[in-house]
Amino acid sequence: MPELPEVETTRKGVASLLTSRRLEAVDVRESRLRWPVTLPAELPGQVLLGLDRRAKYLLFRFQRGTLILHLGMSGSLRVLPAEAPYLKHDHVIFHFEGGRTLRFHDPRRFGSLHWQAGEPVAAGEHWLLAHLGPEPFDPAFDGRYLKSRARGRRVAVKNFLMDSRIVVGVGNIYANEALFLAGVRPSLPAGRVSRAGYDVLAGKIREVLGAAIDMGGTTLRDFVNQDGNPGYFKQVLNVYDRAGQACRVCGETLKGLRLGGRATVFCPKCQKAQGFRRA
Ligand SMILES: [Zn+2]
Repeated sequence: MPELPEVETTRKGVASLLTSRRLEAVDVRESRLRWPVTLPAELPGQVLLGLDRRAKYLLFRFQRGTLILHLGMSGSLRVLPAEAPYLKHDHVIFHFEGGRTLRFHDPRRFGSLHWQAGEPVAAGEHWLLAHLGPEPFDPAFDGRYLKSRARGRRVAVKNFLMDSRIVVGVGNIYANEALFLAGVRPSLPAGRVSRAGYDVLAGKIREVLGAAIDMGGTTLRDFVNQDGNPGYFKQVLNVYDRAGQACRVCGETLKGLRLGGRATVFCPKCQKAQGFRRA
């Protein structure tokens, strides 16, 4: 599944190639995505003013509205010359001036496309985006914010961090890694993590996501290559997918469990359940 760093890398790649270009035509070859794709007749002819991101939604800012795109489970975007052959799962093709096409490829069809007419800022009011928590890189996302939202909550801190109403973009890999780096046990009730623990966690979440985004910068050329596959970034992972292996820090055997149905791995020694309770 594309995670926030992949989406951010996609945003940069597509923006650099298509910003300021006029969209000439849209070819919806398969409208049965997560929701039926219905794009307005007024979309072609508009210039792409910019490309923003909110959580894992890409916001294509056109002159008279915003195209909201989600990559779903298996979606990807490519910018290719108009003459490059279509692939089987290229469901929507955007023809831009100058012979460039943007292709939305999605074998599993869990991706989505919505049009929000009006001023660009209005996209924040779209129902898809209405209940999202802050971005991890937003200055408002810090230990104080997390502690205030966690008060009295019994849900495991890992599930709490993966809740997009609390903070967006913290996928399973990044939640596992940030908790390890912060020394917080994933199963600890969110309400029992201290303010100090959340201060450290907020920083570690930014650290692991930021490192992945930095690595994504080196894969930008994949967006103009039919064969390129952005996939997951080859980041050095401390715990994710390493249950039963030795902790890279202390050598203890890493333990695996399921929290909220998601694979969870932690080091029993580095991540003491009471790690930050002292504060
Ligand atoms: Zn350890």
